[in-house]
Amino acid sequence: MSLAGKLAQERRARLAAERLLEMKQTELSAANRKLGLHAMALSKRIGETQAEVETVRDENEKVKSDLTVANAKIEVAERRLWHSIQTIQDGFAFFDEESRLIGANAAYLSVFDGLEEVAPGVTYPRILEILTTEGLIDIGSEPTSGWHDRMLQRWAMPHPQPEVIRLWNGHYIKLIDQRGHGGDVVSLALNITASVRHEAELTAARERAEAANRAKSAFLANMSHEIRTPMNGIVGMTELMSETPLDEEQRLYLNTIRNSGEALLVIINDVLDYSKIEADKLTLHPEQFDFERCILEVAMLLQPSVRDKGLTLLVDYDLFLPTLFVGDPGRVRQVLTNLVGNAVKFTSKGHVLIRVTGVPNPDAQTCDVHVAIEDTGIGIDQDKVGHIFGEFNQVEDERNRAFEGTGLGLAITKRLITLMGGSIWVDSEPGQGSCFGFRFSLPTAEGPQPVPPDLQGRLRHVMIVEDLAANRAILSKQLGRLGSQVTVCASGREALDALDDSVNLLLCDHDLPDMDGLELAVILKDRGMGDLPVVVMSANPGVIHAHPARHLIEGVLQKPIPRAELYARLQALGRTKSPSELAPDDPGSNKPECSETQRIMRVLAAEDNRTNQLILRKMVKDLNIDLRFAGNGIEAVQEHQDFDPDLIFMDISMPKMDGKQATAEIRRREIETGRHVPVVALTAHAMAGDDQGILSAGLDHYLTKPLQKRKIHQMVLTNKPDDCCPVIAEEGRAD
Ligand code: ADP
Repeated sequence: MSLAGKLAQERRARLAAERLLEMKQTELSAANRKLGLHAMALSKRIGETQAEVETVRDENEKVKSDLTVANAKIEVAERRLWHSIQTIQDGFAFFDEESRLIGANAAYLSVFDGLEEVAPGVTYPRILEILTTEGLIDIGSEPTSGWHDRMLQRWAMPHPQPEVIRLWNGHYIKLIDQRGHGGDVVSLALNITASVRHEAELTAARERAEAANRAKSAFLANMSHEIRTPMNGIVGMTELMSETPLDEEQRLYLNTIRNSGEALLVIINDVLDYSKIEADKLTLHPEQFDFERCILEVAMLLQPSVRDKGLTLLVDYDLFLPTLFVGDPGRVRQVLTNLVGNAVKFTSKGHVLIRVTGVPNPDAQTCDVHVAIEDTGIGIDQDKVGHIFGEFNQVEDERNRAFEGTGLGLAITKRLITLMGGSIWVDSEPGQGSCFGFRFSLPTAEGPQPVPPDLQGRLRHVMIVEDLAANRAILSKQLGRLGSQVTVCASGREALDALDDSVNLLLCDHDLPDMDGLELAVILKDRGMGDLPVVVMSANPGVIHAHPARHLIEGVLQKPIPRAELYARLQALGRTKSPSELAPDDPGSNKPECSETQRIMRVLAAEDNRTNQLILRKMVKDLNIDLRFAGNGIEAVQEHQDFDPDLIFMDISMPKMDGKQATAEIRRREIETGRHVPVVALTAHAMAGDDQGILSAGLDHYLTKPLQKRKIHQMVLTNKPDDCCPVIAEEGRAD
């Protein structure tokens, strides 16, 4: 190849190399640029990361310093807490879930008196053991093992009940243990010695005060008892004196003495009752009794005042309610007498209604009895209602000032009802009347409960003539229950207009507004309706018995009418009357004279008080009996043997041997003879529980002082043996 060709070839090669170089240089600078950019980005990242690291480091530093501060605070708080726990007087300890002691304050540990074993790590069961083995605790008569078991059982409970323990030094510690979530237990041991001692002192003080109160009440009870004996003498004597010839002035004086004496006796009896309740000397004596009869007896007792005031006393005893219960009849009667007596006292116009309802509970053989005593009297202001059940509380206003009383009646009543497990309340509207209600639960007695008679369709239609709406409602309910159709009329005129042949019986009130019951009977006879049986209802049957038209009527029912009496009378209607059915309305039949085979009835009276002996002797002076006295219980027992009485009146409180002991002795002697002489207790105040144990001591009946001639006669009459002469010419009249 030529030189030129070679040169050209070299030049081309050089140019190519220069181009390649140029290209590589371009690539290199591009790569350099990229590298530069990358380096820049990298250093930026590094810068940022460095800043972040800085921040985190700062934050870490801060957290670290916060933690140090917090730790310092915790330490301070813990120290303070522990310091506080150490300084409190009561024991404080905490245990882990395995019942190991974690820590306890000085008060807690002080009980263990430096025993090194009682330190963190010791178990609770071991602590209990140390308490007993070291004699640190007084567990009384409880056996040690029993105490341990009981305490461990308590400890295992999720919420252990507080427990009071007594230490050897007489300190009382109340243990309060709280189980936490993880099973830890915090134990508090509170020293309650001061409050236990204070409580004991208070209890002792209260007991002393109660004993003083009981002593005061017992003193009052004794005093009233002592005052009653002479008072009974005074009242009894006035009764006898009133039967002697007296001029008007003397009679006035005598009546004043008697009324004042009786009023004083009522007050004394109230005080006595109240003191007895206060002195805890009053207990109930349950026995079987007829509740309906009890109510009627109270109604009868109050009838004279009801009559004098022109009021009407009504009894509405639920027909479906049993009448025989087990309870303390004396106390029930006392409650009723107080409430019904008040209703009569504070009512001057209208009526008093005793309503008895109840809910029998056959499973428990009891009955929830509700009694309401409604009156139309002066009522009680709302602001006074809350006070009347308190002691000596009477409503002090003009309307009340006219009424006497001690203000103890309702307090006694409330306490008696509470004693019987019942409750009492009152609703009242001033000027309209009051309603006192009480309820109690009484066991039903096992005897036969009254069953309404089966009239066998004889009295299909009965007409009731009665002006008082409440009484009309009660009677029509009672008669409707027997299946009779009932027509009610409010006056005699209305009855005469409504009467027709369908009526089989006319039940008529005696005191109608337009005519009395007997006048109605006379009109009926004049109208040719004399065959229609007429039964007259009256609160004062004596007036009717003496009336010339008495023979026109079938019979008289005394108001308030005992349900049993009404039923018996209805059943007897239409049947031929037996003499016994006639007897209640026909008391005039004379008994035969004493025959040769008969002897005089012997009556023994055991009575230490001369005044009372005199009263009794005078009261029976008209009776054909042989009366002998014994001055104390020993004499009574002797006379029982020597005199062989047919009846004994026995005073209860007598010297040497009291009436109960004497009767018990007589009953013991009678076991040999097989005889049983009726013994009648003479008590100062039977209603208020003086009858306690009287009947159980073998006495058959009791009479309360001041003695009443009528009741004494009744006792003699009912207990006269058949072989004795009649004691009175007209025996039927005596009662
Ligand atoms: P007192 O011996 O005065 O009757 P109570 O304790 O029986 O004592 O009654 C307290 C008071 O309650 C009576 O004084 C009377 O003010 C009032 N009170 C009781 N019952 C009635 C009633 N049925 N109507 C109006 N007030 C009554």
